[in-house]
Amino acid sequence: MNVTYQHRINIAIDGPAGAGKSTVARLVAGKLQYVYVDTGAMYRAVTVVALERGIPIEDDARLGELAAALDISLLPGDGGQIVLADGDDVTEVIRSREVTLSVSRVSACAAVRQRMSELQRRMAAAKGIVMDGRDIGTHVLPDAELKIFLTASPAERARRRYLELGDDPGVTLEQLEREISQRDRMDSEREIAPLRQAADAVLIDSTGLTIEQIVGEIVSRADQASQTTAAREN
Ligand code: C5P
Repeated sequence: MNVTYQHRINIAIDGPAGAGKSTVARLVAGKLQYVYVDTGAMYRAVTVVALERGIPIEDDARLGELAAALDISLLPGDGGQIVLADGDDVTEVIRSREVTLSVSRVSACAAVRQRMSELQRRMAAAKGIVMDGRDIGTHVLPDAELKIFLTASPAERARRRYLELGDDPGVTLEQLEREISQRDRMDSEREIAPLRQAADAVLIDSTGLTIEQIVGEIVSRADQASQTTAAREN
């Protein structure tokens, strides 16, 4: 089923690590012919450049300077989204363990968040965006016409991440579970724009649901939201 809506809306998908946000967001964007924006990839790109330049991840002033001058682009590619930081392809390195272990500290920096939110709002200005992250429905796009909070049990999220790592995971399932919980805690407890379900977001617990079921549910809600918005504006 390929649906093109006359009335383009913005869709925010937030939730903790490993809930399936990026897979679901990409598929929803494909079905609606919308643009997918992975905001986690943007925070990861800042982290890569900070590590490369030897900027301590506790140094908020230098992180802020870095983010303010950094150009991040998300481009459609064959195997998914290509991420460029100042023109360099960082698509693979942003998924490294080193980056994953540091990104929550970098994304707690106010100046980094301010710059990323500004870039994200610019990307969403023309509508027709599916944006996934932690603070999209609460801070970046509080007026998004559809907000989803996607979650799953911590054990299920760790299991999914573990399977993604393939034959040579380099980490045990228990270790991954601990790391995911720690990242969720940092993301939920930070002062600025913490991970929270927006009051007007629809909660979907993906434990035990197939990807197709979740995508179908979101596309059908997008259809309703698009019609409601169109009716309101006419
Ligand atoms: O989505 P992903 O797991 O790639 O995100 C990596 C990290 O980036 C998160 O753990 C969080 O610290 C940060 N992030 C954020 N706000 C967003 C998206 C991601 O703080 N909107």
